[in-house]
Amino acid sequence: MDRRLVVDLHTHSRFAIGCSSALTLESLSRGAWAKGIDVLATGDFTHPAWLAELKSGLKPVEEGVFESALGCQFVLGAEVASIWSAGGRGRRVHSLLLAPGFPAVDRFNARLAKYTRLESDGRPMTKLSAGELARMAWDVDERFVVMPAHVWTPWYGMYGSKSGFDSIEECFGEASSGIRAIETGLSSDPAMNWRFSDLDGRVILSFSDAHSPANLGREVTMLDADASYESIRTAIECGGVLETVEFFPEHGKYHLDGHSKCGVRLLPAESAATDGRCAQCGRLITLGVVNRVEQLADKPEYVSRASDGLIRGPEGRPPFRRIVPLEELIAWGLGTRRVTKGVQKVYSTLLGEFGNELSILIGVPEADLEAVGAGVGYDIARAIIAVRKGRVQIDPGYDGAYGTVTPILD
Ligand SMILES: [Zn+2]
Ligand SMILES: [Zn+2]
Repeated sequence: MDRRLVVDLHTHSRFAIGCSSALTLESLSRGAWAKGIDVLATGDFTHPAWLAELKSGLKPVEEGVFESALGCQFVLGAEVASIWSAGGRGRRVHSLLLAPGFPAVDRFNARLAKYTRLESDGRPMTKLSAGELARMAWDVDERFVVMPAHVWTPWYGMYGSKSGFDSIEECFGEASSGIRAIETGLSSDPAMNWRFSDLDGRVILSFSDAHSPANLGREVTMLDADASYESIRTAIECGGVLETVEFFPEHGKYHLDGHSKCGVRLLPAESAATDGRCAQCGRLITLGVVNRVEQLADKPEYVSRASDGLIRGPEGRPPFRRIVPLEELIAWGLGTRRVTKGVQKVYSTLLGEFGNELSILIGVPEADLEAVGAGVGYDIARAIIAVRKGRVQIDPGYDGAYGTVTPILD
């Protein structure tokens, strides 16, 4: 039985602050098709204008799953920022929500509207704690899925260095038993998360948190599920993950420590030797994801890498693999920026040949890639194969600056 559902459940609309004005149902649908995603979250269901577009532009196909005019399947998703005080410190934690249908969304939004202006941001801020938010969602409908987003990122992650906690229980309180899954975020990967016993028995998921259509699918999760809300929810909450597809964690913008304005990048051991301030300008440095993982992890790293590109860990944990977005590989090969006509041309040629980006990056056999690769201006096939084999040069991200990961060609 081949049941494999590729999902990207952390997305946004153009109504979320910091997100591209190009994020419409149409561009999300086209993006999902190009990337090879079966089900996308809508993002931002708390926003009245976006919700109105969702209601008019999506038609139900299954309980809790909807289809756009272009035939892309969606579930209703949102992200909410909790900003409150606990343990004598200000806390900021982003939570991802999935809702079973529009009536549940309407009831949830009516409750949430008492605590925030929903129309001000597609990712609304509330003084409700993460635990209160989760309980409110389950009070509306127990089928809501609630999980902490990008858990290790410094500013808004549940374990983040700036305003996070040391455990799920500390963050979510009574609601913690209902938190069955977490999102790793771009700067950490499953292997880092396997090291922390707080996550034992919880499901580790990866999504793109795309702020533009081009970034959809830069991380995805493959579920053993079919395209219905209950099946997706069960897979998320009961561990029906086949594999996750990951950014190289160093590619993420909060991997190491430092102060990006000054170009000061530090390993955890180096930042421990400072007084928490940048040696150049004296401002506070930002402690990244590796630093927090090392503080909290209580198990050694354990991974084994197989020739199929999958990275496996402890018993019971699904494997994962690492990718570099195809447009970045093309741009690197052509020696140009990602958003250029030249890159788009090669990208479209490859999509025309092989269907979608995920197939190209992880599925298409090497010989087929090689047959086309040389025809697109430079040998993209060799770059893709190098990344599949982990032959890459890495310049890690820190303090909001993305890292770079480039293939090493033989
Ligand atoms: Zn977030
Ligand atoms: Zn500085």
